[in-house]
Amino acid sequence: MKWISHAGKAVLCALALGAALAFPAGKGKADPVSVKKAAIIIDDFGNDLKGTKEMMELPVPFTAAVMPFLPTTKRDAEWAHRLGHDVLVHLPMEPVKGKKSWLGPHPIMTDLSDEEIRKRVEAAIDDVPYAIGMNNHMGSKATADERVMRIVLEVCRERHLLFFDSRTSYRSQVPVLAKQLGVRTEENQLFFDDVYSRSHIIKQLALFKKKLDQNRVCTAIGHVGVTGVPMAEELKKTVLELSPEVTFLTLSEFIAVKTKGNQDEASPESAGKLQN
Ligand SMILES: [Zn+2]
Repeated sequence: MKWISHAGKAVLCALALGAALAFPAGKGKADPVSVKKAAIIIDDFGNDLKGTKEMMELPVPFTAAVMPFLPTTKRDAEWAHRLGHDVLVHLPMEPVKGKKSWLGPHPIMTDLSDEEIRKRVEAAIDDVPYAIGMNNHMGSKATADERVMRIVLEVCRERHLLFFDSRTSYRSQVPVLAKQLGVRTEENQLFFDDVYSRSHIIKQLALFKKKLDQNRVCTAIGHVGVTGVPMAEELKKTVLELSPEVTFLTLSEFIAVKTKGNQDEASPESAGKLQN
C-alpha cells in the first residue's frame, strides 16, 4: 500500500513542478491508485534530428537522453527540463561493431587510459545541463568492459547521478558494478524502434502494453532521428490510450517508486499490513 501512496506522491510532486500544464494527458484525471508504471527514455537528442519537437511535446513526462558536444545539446537539455522531463547524458561508448562516425565527439573507447576516460565522462556531464544521470549511446563493447564501467560509474557516484543501462550487451557490467558502488541504476526492457519501420514500432508498442499487463512496470527506449516522427506519433497515441491507467514517470521518479516498493515489500511492518 505504501508503494501506491508513494506513487501518488510522485504524481503530486510532478504536479507541483508545473507538470499539470505540460502534460494534459495526466491533468485532472491522475489516478492515485493506478499501479502500472512506465518510464520512457528517448535517445539521441542534441543534434536537431527528425522528430525532436514532436517528441518534446509528448503529453506525458519522459526522459530525454541528450548527446554531449553537439549543436543543440544545450538547447535540447534546457527544453526537456523546462517541460518537466528528466535529462540524461547520452554518453557515446564503443560498440563491438559499427562505424566510429556514428559515435559522435569524444566517445568512451576501451583503449583509452583511466585518466582519459574519467576526463571524457566529466566533460560530457558538464556539457549537458540539468542531467540527473546518464545512459549509453551504442556501447556494446564498452559496457561489457569492467575497467571502463568502473570509472564511468565512479564518476556517477561522485556526481550523484544514476546510470540507465540501455542493454546493448548481454555481458554488461553495469548491474554488478552499480550495486557494488551504490549507484542507482535501471535497465532497458524494450527498444521501440530497433527496426526502422512504423509497423515495427506499432508491434513493439503492443509488446510494451503486454509487458505492463504482465509485470505492472516497464522501461523502454525510442529515438529521434530516422524513426523520430513515426515514433513520436505512435507513442503519443499509445500514451493517450494508456493514461491514466498507466502512470508515466521520469526515470528518477520511476527508480524512487520502485526502490520504495521493494523496501516496503521487504519490511516486516508492511508484510503485516498486507495480511490484515
Ligand atoms: Zn543513441
